[in-house]
Amino acid sequence: MNMSKRRIAIRDYYATEFDVDTLTQVIDFSSFSTREFGFVSLNGKFFRNIAFETPDDLQDFLIDRCPTDAYIGAVYDNPPSRKRPIHTLEWIGHELVFDIDINDYDAVRKYVCDCTGAGQVCLRCWQLINVSISLIDETLRRDFGMNDIIWLFSGRRGVHGWVRDSNTFDLDRDQRQSIIDYLSIIKGEDETARVQERKQLKYEFRKRTESTIFRYYLKNIRRKDLVELGLSGNVATNTIRQLKHQDGYVDDNLARSFNLSLARVNKYDEILRRWAPRIDHKVTIDLRRLLRMPTSIHGKTGKVARILDFEDFFDFNPEDEPSIFSDIEEQR
Ligand SMILES: [Zn+2]
Repeated sequence: MNMSKRRIAIRDYYATEFDVDTLTQVIDFSSFSTREFGFVSLNGKFFRNIAFETPDDLQDFLIDRCPTDAYIGAVYDNPPSRKRPIHTLEWIGHELVFDIDINDYDAVRKYVCDCTGAGQVCLRCWQLINVSISLIDETLRRDFGMNDIIWLFSGRRGVHGWVRDSNTFDLDRDQRQSIIDYLSIIKGEDETARVQERKQLKYEFRKRTESTIFRYYLKNIRRKDLVELGLSGNVATNTIRQLKHQDGYVDDNLARSFNLSLARVNKYDEILRRWAPRIDHKVTIDLRRLLRMPTSIHGKTGKVARILDFEDFFDFNPEDEPSIFSDIEEQR
């Protein structure tokens, strides 16, 4: 891609559309000057250990340097700089964050949609992300008492959850790990991942997981998915017909009879395994992690890492998000 055109597109975005105050929805400005930032320059170099005195200084930097990617890190006792990098400073805190990427579902996506290759994403497999957000969000609020949670599109193929509750800010690595453990329905990765034994999960959480997953699952189901599970053609047809009749609404009766059919073919846990949240643990427990800056540009896609509204959530399709590079691509 033409570098100077890219530069202009990025500068225009940060000069006219980007509003640095939007960041207050995600980070607390009272500790702004000692927060670490990181950037990828137009020629692909990665820089971190950068701090800004004020949010306006950050915006000036973005307009002036036009980085392709911008990241936010933790808060320290002093401003990070090249002379005083973060490992020489005292760590003060970092929001509790969750990273969910569709790539982590590659082993199970084939059961949900017809995407081929890691680069693709569609509205159907995006439901795997939606079910994870829904479950994690509700569990953090109900079981952990957190209530200030923001979800963002990552700009490419995933989402980031930021928990802003002040009592989560200084959680250490082990405490963050234990929250991840609580939220883990499956153990392991890829094809070998298995559903945890029932007694390993808190009863309420297990119940919530099952009802949330099956609600989403039935809403998105196709007849061929049911046949693939081993259900008879008749049961498959009836289930789809009933769902159509109820306009996609999954009531208790339908859920119960469907779960019985699943139990008969021994596929109940298999559905949970496919649809369970797959959180990138490393991101949550890494206290010095840099995470894509909310409302910044993703350098590879030219899409804005925007804050997701719960209202328009279920129609959100990452493929439909506009790219600031689209004009440049067309001219190539
Ligand atoms: Zn897909």
